[in-house]
Amino acid sequence: MRAYGPEPPRWITTLLSFDKNCQYWVNFCERIENEFGDDSVEYQIASQTLFCVPKFHISNHIEDCQFQFHPGHVTGAGRVTGEEVEPPWAELGQAGAQSRDSNPGHRQEIIEDAISDWNFKKLVGMGEHNVNAAH
Ligand SMILES: [Zn+2]
Repeated sequence: MRAYGPEPPRWITTLLSFDKNCQYWVNFCERIENEFGDDSVEYQIASQTLFCVPKFHISNHIEDCQFQFHPGHVTGAGRVTGEEVEPPWAELGQAGAQSRDSNPGHRQEIIEDAISDWNFKKLVGMGEHNVNAAH
């Protein structure tokens, strides 16, 4: 039995983390059903989705939200912070300036290169971080 928050779906396929998920989740499945129908893949995925509010944002919500949507309280969320999208924003802003006048294909390549570069640096930095953390 779950103590807080919306009842988790039986089969969880997706965890959506967003600053306003405490409001967004309320009619999410109904909106997807109205748009795509209840026999659609979209509705199937929506009905198997959990919602949380990122850890660094949840403290600005009311207490009920903190109980219901803190990633640490959402069954199946594991130990995610829910903030994974935000750290590279400053660096990706540079890609935005580079891609502003590009056609859609070139823009996608620039953004994918920037994200790949971010992921590579993060991966390489993990080893150094772990070595330093061990000392
Ligand atoms: Zn809230």
